[in-house]
Amino acid sequence: MALIVQKFGGSSVANAERVMNVARIVTDTYKQGNDVIVVVSAQGDTTDDLIAKALEINEKPSRREMDMLLCSGEQISIALLAMAIEKLGYPAVSLLGWQAGFSTNSTYGSARIKKIRTDRLKNEIGNKKIVIVAGFQGICKYDDMTTLGRGGSDSSAVAIAAAMHADRCQIFTDVEGVYTADPRKVKGAKKLTEITYDEMLELATLGAQVLNNRSVEIAKKYNVELEVLSSLTRASGTIVKEVTDMEKMFIRGVTKDTNVARFSIVGVPDVPGIAYKIFNKLAAKNIVVDIILQSIGRDGTKDITFTVSRDNTDETCELLNNYDLLKDSVVSCDTDVAKISVVGAGMESHPGCAATMFEALYGVDINIQMIATSEIKISVLIDSKDADRAVNAVHAAFFPEND
Ligand code: ASP
Ligand code: MG
Repeated sequence: MALIVQKFGGSSVANAERVMNVARIVTDTYKQGNDVIVVVSAQGDTTDDLIAKALEINEKPSRREMDMLLCSGEQISIALLAMAIEKLGYPAVSLLGWQAGFSTNSTYGSARIKKIRTDRLKNEIGNKKIVIVAGFQGICKYDDMTTLGRGGSDSSAVAIAAAMHADRCQIFTDVEGVYTADPRKVKGAKKLTEITYDEMLELATLGAQVLNNRSVEIAKKYNVELEVLSSLTRASGTIVKEVTDMEKMFIRGVTKDTNVARFSIVGVPDVPGIAYKIFNKLAAKNIVVDIILQSIGRDGTKDITFTVSRDNTDETCELLNNYDLLKDSVVSCDTDVAKISVVGAGMESHPGCAATMFEALYGVDINIQMIATSEIKISVLIDSKDADRAVNAVHAAFFPEND
């Protein structure tokens, strides 16, 4: 007998039929003699709809009230799933985040899990209940409900698996696992059977939408082995773990991220401390900077170009335009850009990865604006209108059709 945590995303519980489908997956697992804790997201587009409702009333709602509202989405799905399981004749209990012991910090809207008190969960499991927990939420020291940020139910599930020392954590979604590229957009995208935490973390951060990146961080930290699989087909999925033995395949995936804005500052003084001052200012505003490029100084000035997430565009613009240090420089911003990345831990020991990627882009006549590399990834910044073409070309170069 094992303890299994199963997480189902919004699309897996989108309507009555899908809720019943999830109830069958859960009860099948329970029938085999396992203890089961289920974490669910809000149904379908519920969270987006709730946000729209809020904005109809107040275009700048307080974060506290926003969390109060958004927590209701998951409350609906846990109750419905518990009813579905009862209908199939099995014992179930639904719990909100706070009832399941989730305490978080008080950063409403993107709270961090601090601790999970597991006594209630253990009690219910001890009573042979299938426990259904509302994902994406917890309670802070002021006894207020908090949410963990969009896509946060993955983190809820992984954190429960860690706290309860579960034997397995299964993340059910509407795709069959982690692919070498978005299977809906890229011809020949292949399902991976295994991937390491680090690779998954890069893929999640770089725009592969299958797992939320914080959940992968938690999984890596507590060594929770994850399985990503489809709630619709029940085929075996992708395992995310510390080491894999697929050494042959050195690239795991190609991703596209269009949530990027590029800033250029032309003509900054070529003296020590400039980069520090600019990026320190951005850091003080919690703006995460990604790719950075600095030109060689000439005639006493140099140029700095960097990218931030598109949501930070206005704030970054304002900050740079009002910075007296840059009063003689020209600041420009471009949001029509996309970041294309290849990820794979084997890259380190395989020369020529960058050349393969650049050749593929050259082959379809796409211009590279910026390049950044790490041990396990190469990213390029290109025009956003070329993004899908670029992903297809790069993917085809690394994963030839008949391999
Ligand atoms: N329902 C929340 C969202 O859509 C949490 C989640 O789906 O994981 O962001
Ligand atoms: Mg959702």
